[in-house]
Amino acid sequence: MKVPQYTELLGLSLQQLTDVVESLAESPYRARQLFDGLYRQKWSSLERFTTLSQAFRQRLSEAGFAVGLPRIEKKFVSVDGTVRYLLAFADGQSVETVWMPEGDGGEAGDGSESGDAELEELDSAPSVSSSDIVVPSEAEGSAVRNEGTSGAPFFRPPVAKERDENVAPAKASPDRKRWRRATICVSSQVGCAVECAFCMTALLGLHRNLTAGEIVGQILAVLSDQQVEMQRDRVNLVFMGQGEPFLNYDNFMQAVRLLVEGVGIPASRMTVSTSGIVPRIADFAAEPVRPKLAVSLNAPNEALRTQVMPITKKWTIEKLIAALRDFPLRNRERLTFEYVLLGGVNDDVQQAREMIDLIRGLRAKVNLIALNPGPEIPFATPSDERVLAFQNVLTRAGIPAFVRRPRGRDIYAACGQLKHTTELVQLGS
Ligand code: SAH
Ligand code: SF4
Repeated sequence: MKVPQYTELLGLSLQQLTDVVESLAESPYRARQLFDGLYRQKWSSLERFTTLSQAFRQRLSEAGFAVGLPRIEKKFVSVDGTVRYLLAFADGQSVETVWMPEGDGGEAGDGSESGDAELEELDSAPSVSSSDIVVPSEAEGSAVRNEGTSGAPFFRPPVAKERDENVAPAKASPDRKRWRRATICVSSQVGCAVECAFCMTALLGLHRNLTAGEIVGQILAVLSDQQVEMQRDRVNLVFMGQGEPFLNYDNFMQAVRLLVEGVGIPASRMTVSTSGIVPRIADFAAEPVRPKLAVSLNAPNEALRTQVMPITKKWTIEKLIAALRDFPLRNRERLTFEYVLLGGVNDDVQQAREMIDLIRGLRAKVNLIALNPGPEIPFATPSDERVLAFQNVLTRAGIPAFVRRPRGRDIYAACGQLKHTTELVQLGS
């Protein structure tokens, strides 16, 4: 089949749209209308751009320009409200994007902002010691507590586990639980070239980079499907889906700028997670507009990290930590270290002590994630006791540490489980 040749407008900046408009001898203000239609209105085809004349739309189309959001191919809804979307692009490739409605207890599921609410209090009230930090265990409690407070709610998707190939938008219904905010976990590549031993995405290998338009398109498709209103609802983004964002750096950063300027999501509500692509950390530090930075550490020393994350051979822990020591943090900003606990491998309290020495002096918090299991993943999930013991060692040393509650494990939507899992496991049967 011949793939149609066209230029996708979604993903272009205002300047690039201005160039398009000028090449068609139209007034430059048309570029602003296109920008607004693409990113604020989330219009998914040229026909919907009713702010433009029919004649101009026709000329755009004849010149080979098109608009298209990724298609929702499948939707899996978890018992905890998490929704895993399988989104397909024009060439048939697809990625997974996860919607996580949540309470307001500093618990962010797969989002690395777990603990941010507590940390804000900690930072503004020096009398609170880090050992006072409690890990919220259930989002439910906080959601109930927040009902009726300012800020508008999200509607929780149906609680029953289901395989939903009927992709009609989630409809608001009065009996659904209300949420004040939600987090979208976004993919940056189809598959991933980094061969982390505990991650299901690694099993896919790298198929290709996503364009800036495809990265933004995931978010627009989910926002539309969940009927989010940007002025009203609070949305956080975590670039923690499939892929290594810093190995698709330019497209990832172009997407960030479009999301800030066009869609209206502040960069302070975004977190990017990297496996430690050291040269890009310095580039990222120099960006005038950037999300917060999370680093997947996953082991406290060179030998063990090389085993579980072979990329350590290329960029050593020493180089990684040195780059992070040079990273200019903003007022009140903290780095996040992510640490996937692998039973009997990296979850010993002695290894927690080693980690303290490694990250000493960095303004950072640690998000602990008990391994989300999956087929072909040769590690075990540690017991709750071991997770808590590891957390305690860090917390007692003054390092804020949070245990991330897995979201959507039943539908393979949790961290490290994104791998077109229909291939591997039968869901919803
Ligand atoms: N490639 C980037 C971002 C995507 S991975 C990175 O590695 O940082 C997002 C997070 O999921 C990382 O912190 C990673 O360590 C974690 N992760 C991967 N596989 C996991 C698994 N099986 N269980 C729990 N977390 C996992
Ligand atoms: Fe890639 Fe991140 Fe998975 Fe490692 S953990 S394989 S970098 S997606």
